[in-house]
Amino acid sequence: MSSPSPARVRFAPSPTGHLHIGGARTALFNWLIARQTGGTFILRIEDTDTARNVEGADQKIMEDLRWLGLQWDEGVGVGGPNGPYYQSQRLDYYRSVLKRLLDSGNAYHAFDTAEELEAMRAEAEAQKKAFMYPRPATFPDENDVRKARQAGRPVVVRFKAAGQDVTVRDEVMGDVTISASELDDFIICKADGMPTYHLANVADDAAMGVTFVLRGQEFLSQTPRHIALQRALGFATPQYAHLPLIMDMQGRKLSKRDGAVEVFAFRQAGYLPEVLVNFIALLGWSPGQDREKMTLQEMVELFSVDRIGRTNARFDRDKLIAFNTDAVASTGEERLAATLDDYLTVNPDLRISRAKLDEAARRYLLRINRGFRTFADIEYKCGFIYEADENIACDPDAVKKVLAKGENAGYQMLESLVPRLESVDPWTAENVESLLKQIGEERSVNMGKVAQPIRVAVSGSTVSPPIGETLAMLGKEKSLKRIRQCLARRA
Ligand code: GLU
Repeated sequence: MSSPSPARVRFAPSPTGHLHIGGARTALFNWLIARQTGGTFILRIEDTDTARNVEGADQKIMEDLRWLGLQWDEGVGVGGPNGPYYQSQRLDYYRSVLKRLLDSGNAYHAFDTAEELEAMRAEAEAQKKAFMYPRPATFPDENDVRKARQAGRPVVVRFKAAGQDVTVRDEVMGDVTISASELDDFIICKADGMPTYHLANVADDAAMGVTFVLRGQEFLSQTPRHIALQRALGFATPQYAHLPLIMDMQGRKLSKRDGAVEVFAFRQAGYLPEVLVNFIALLGWSPGQDREKMTLQEMVELFSVDRIGRTNARFDRDKLIAFNTDAVASTGEERLAATLDDYLTVNPDLRISRAKLDEAARRYLLRINRGFRTFADIEYKCGFIYEADENIACDPDAVKKVLAKGENAGYQMLESLVPRLESVDPWTAENVESLLKQIGEERSVNMGKVAQPIRVAVSGSTVSPPIGETLAMLGKEKSLKRIRQCLARRA
């Protein structure tokens, strides 16, 4: 197949929280189709289910999309000729669509209470039949609706299923046919007067001229209903493609249980957006020939719906880390420094704080941490530098192994190092490093025996950048202060 050219596509999230990896993939594939065909990528917020809406989630989703580099052409925040793009602001339009369906006899009012519906369902179950709403022989009129309202009954509107089989021609899943007997009279307007997802979604795709709907597989079972609605309303049916599910490495649905699932969580964990977006692209799609690493621009050239697989995708966290490590090694310092700044902005509670780091300091941190996997490694290895001296508590294991072992060999080393370090001038990484090397040679011990006690004393742990850089960053005064503090606290 080829995408219609130029395609009008949309991403239509419900504002329930930050953008999930699955949603990000849907947005990305739609964005790619728009860019590839010179079309339009629309962002519509589906917020008619008021109970599920989360305040501010729309802004979060927009921020996540922008961070990934997926700017939309039309929609919330940017406007366009088919607005408003919040469904909650389009209620008059849905009412007019609803009226058309009621007037043409394609929809009718129903007044069942939750208990009545439950009893009908239970009965169907007892007879081992799938529950189908029993359509009344004659539809209620205005008068009946008024009476039902007065009696305090919930008044909904149901779509009258057309009694025809519906085939979804899915670009990924192939033809999926649902027989007429499985299509029920589903609700299109709820008792609170709000349209259901089905009505609003179909009405908006038509009003916004959407030509291609690409979304998660969980919506495939709803698509026959959408096509039935389109037929009743005389709307064109767009092309459809439903994406395979995303699983974890154990074959379970991807969930928070085994790590981050939201784009923002990966941003906070210190990944590069270009890596995450590349990784997400490979969840169910591949350009072939074992090609994996791609920029967004390359993806625009290579993307094709034909190459989206039907089998579930696997979210391999180890592979994502490996991707990020590789990308960091080949990314320029300027770009890394800017992204590190963003990482610090979205993590205000880290020890390394943005306020304390100018551009030069950020670049320095990047250099001395060369080979890091994510920005979180930098925090892990260098956060101690920014802590108050008195808060440096030595890890008991490190104390045992590095300082106390061999009759306090480490402590003794530290004691003897203090006067030598005092004499270093100027206090540079090179000078510190060569002094420690010299001491190692004098005493015929390897550098580790000299450097590790210092590392534990100044950082509290056994991991930090090379010792010269570590002490240079910390400065002479603080380095010595922490070493003395460690000696004084010795049990
Ligand atoms: N509002 C739906 C969601 O939450 C959109 C489904 C669709 O793309 O049609 O994902």
